[in-house]
Amino acid sequence: MIIVGGGPAGSTLAALLARSGLDVTVLERETFPRYHIGESLVPEVLDVLEESGALPAVESAGFLRKEGGVFRWGTKPEPWTFHFDEARERYRFTYAYQVVRSVFDKILLEHAQTCGAEVMHGVLAREFAEQPVAGSNWTGAKLTATLADGEPLELQARLVVDCSGQAGWLASKFKLRKYDPFLRNVAVFAYFRDAARLPGREAHSILCEAMELGWFWNIPLHDGTNSVGLITKAELSPAAGDRTAFYESALQKSVYTRELLARATRVTELRSIADYSYRPSRLAGPGFLLAGDAGNFIDPIWSTGIMLATTSARLAARAIKESFQSGTPQALADYETTVQQLVGRYRQFIYFFYQTNATPENYFWKAYSMLPSAADPQDAFIRLVSGRLGV
Ligand SMILES: Cc1cc2nc3c(=O)[nH]c(=O)nc-3n(C[C@H](O)[C@H](O)[C@H](O)COP(=O)(O)OP(=O)(O)OC[C@H]3O[C@@H](n4cnc5c(N)ncnc54)[C@H](O)[C@@H]3O)c2cc1C
Repeated sequence: MIIVGGGPAGSTLAALLARSGLDVTVLERETFPRYHIGESLVPEVLDVLEESGALPAVESAGFLRKEGGVFRWGTKPEPWTFHFDEARERYRFTYAYQVVRSVFDKILLEHAQTCGAEVMHGVLAREFAEQPVAGSNWTGAKLTATLADGEPLELQARLVVDCSGQAGWLASKFKLRKYDPFLRNVAVFAYFRDAARLPGREAHSILCEAMELGWFWNIPLHDGTNSVGLITKAELSPAAGDRTAFYESALQKSVYTRELLARATRVTELRSIADYSYRPSRLAGPGFLLAGDAGNFIDPIWSTGIMLATTSARLAARAIKESFQSGTPQALADYETTVQQLVGRYRQFIYFFYQTNATPENYFWKAYSMLPSAADPQDAFIRLVSGRLGV
């Protein structure tokens, strides 16, 4: 088994498969720790990390414990809140963490290594070709990569799982990626020191504030910084490299984000990302599978990225074990269907959230229409934003 990419999808899949006794190699182009955007987790991630065995190391890293979120969104003029422990069912994890990704991703990848996976840093996956496995009906793969010193590397495997994130190694090779016409947004973000905290129980919550140019996220982190990002429509955003004044002026136009940052200092350069919302035409094919952002990414609004990355890794691990045991790729095709349905449901909710200027109760009812087994609309909403769609 070869996994390309050692982010949360790749490292979780590697740990789950190595713990099942499979031979796993992870190729990661960077040397960890490396920077990554996307710091706010939801409770379902903790369930997956408990299964992979990585949770104790994550729990002892000192990350801030996140109990919910504060949203200034829709027709309600004041911010409204939700807490993960408001779900009616007694879930094991009714909290999550705000993580510094360089630290979090390193913990997960080292855990995969502890489980028995071989991890190769500084290795860039390049070419992929199908390759029949001698003496069977199985189609495996041949992969070529470049080592950190520039030397080529050739590997063969029964399956290659692309977990290369937004880079989309196989998605771009096979032209699988379709960009979302409704979520053509740009994210501009930076880190601040000495930001004020929200009061009481919300001190570690994510704050999402809609304003005329888009919306801001504000995520407090355990290293004393806050991740503060603006999501704006592509047509409103200046060209890359020219976004600082735009970001600063949007910040001044915000109310709650500006207030929290009144005495804070920006301590990093501004970064930005565009074209990050897409879906793939396929997630599985002869010799390959896609998991995490390498397949789908919807939008940062409900902090579902790492949840969908680690959940797709969990589903991929089950499908790979089953298909290796049966000797047929049927379980891999079923994996594609399950992941696309799961992501599709979140996409539906996120479209509604962006397109409907409504009360919190309207958003709860939308969640209830998607999760009729929930106790009531608020319960459905909490389950949805906790990442609990039951896969
Ligand atoms: C603006 C923004 C804000 C976000 N905020 C949040 C948030 O608050 N909460 C949340 O849960 N999610 C958030 N996300 C999403 C989250 O960051 C991703 O969903 C998550 O990182 C996906 O994990 P992954 O393992 O699939 O990919 P990644 O974490 O991107 O890992 C992919 C790895 O593959 C490696 N790689 C790439 N190409 C190759 C190659 N050819 N060979 C070898 N290695 C390769 C990369 O170096 C990288 O380490 C946000 C995303 C954006 C764009």
